[in-house]
Amino acid sequence: MGEDAGAIQLTADEMAPAVEDVHNAGRKVSIHAESALGVAAALRAGVDFVEHCNSLTPDLAAEMARRGVYKVTTLSFFYGVASQEPGPDVPAEYIRNARRVTAEAFEAQAGAPHRRVVRGGHRRRRALRSA
Ligand SMILES: [Zn+2]
Repeated sequence: MGEDAGAIQLTADEMAPAVEDVHNAGRKVSIHAESALGVAAALRAGVDFVEHCNSLTPDLAAEMARRGVYKVTTLSFFYGVASQEPGPDVPAEYIRNARRVTAEAFEAQAGAPHRRVVRGGHRRRRALRSA
């Protein structure tokens, strides 16, 4: 949450060759995307899991469902930050962002047609990857 969550680090064209290599090796691909732009790029690249999806739109959720892509909410992390009070170690802006993300994610999830959701955080995903 320290960087601009709306920005994307890789385009679909940049991700696709890596996704193809991983699939050719018989593995699944998970990426971290907070913005709608990031989720859209990940879907075009052919990923299997998208972590966060904090600004998921109904159209993107439907596209994820159509493609059989799982959403990994990681809401427990943001919820944990959102429930804190600002202090020397936790800046107020960090908490405001977490509260916004949590509220938007719960709202988006409530109306989304998406049915393939992995609940848990980063630690849980690591466990799935190594399985
Ligand atoms: Zn992440």
